[in-house]
Amino acid sequence: MRKGYVQVYTGNGKGKTTAALGLAVRAAGAGMRTFIAQFIKKKKCSEHALLEELNDRITIRQYGKGFLLRKKPSAADIQAAKAGYQQVKEKLLSREYEVVILDEANVAVHYGLISAQDILDLIAVKPKSVELVITGRYACDQVVAAADLVTEMREVKHYRQKGVEARRGIEK
Ligand code: ATP
Ligand code: MG
Repeated sequence: MRKGYVQVYTGNGKGKTTAALGLAVRAAGAGMRTFIAQFIKKKKCSEHALLEELNDRITIRQYGKGFLLRKKPSAADIQAAKAGYQQVKEKLLSREYEVVILDEANVAVHYGLISAQDILDLIAVKPKSVELVITGRYACDQVVAAADLVTEMREVKHYRQKGVEARRGIEK
């Protein structure tokens, strides 16, 4: 049985979610199944429609109410994140998936929707063979310490500063 590791993609530069999606595509190409849980987000990005077509290998679910737009998390935001967390735990333990991705989970921890301990618990209970991938800026020290691979996307330049808005197919 192959060993699965814990990967973290964090930092303020672009590429965290796309790295995780790329990994899911690569895993699917190798016949592996991936469960992607997206925290925070409630808008479906362009990848959702495509991934529906690959649903024998990649499952993507959203557990967000988009709270960043409102700054302070509401009870509904917290409720959605906690429900997502329980689902992820179930999927992680189900052995149905070789790869489990928690997109924006670092942000959910940063804003207190779930706790760092919740993530550490997932790392502790995950079947040894599952690859666990956690994305989002603000990865906390405990999660970084517990991970096997941590990549920080550092923003060197971003066209956002020139006023370019998120584009369909590129950022959303
Ligand atoms: P990507 O999803 O492109 O890999 P990321 O996961 O590294 O990026 P995040 O910190 O998750 O980056 O935030 C990027 C999100 O911010 C995007 O999903 C996008 O919708 C949103 N966004 C808002 N405005 C912009 C902009 N002008 N340029 C890029 N992204 C933007
Ligand atoms: Mg992202």
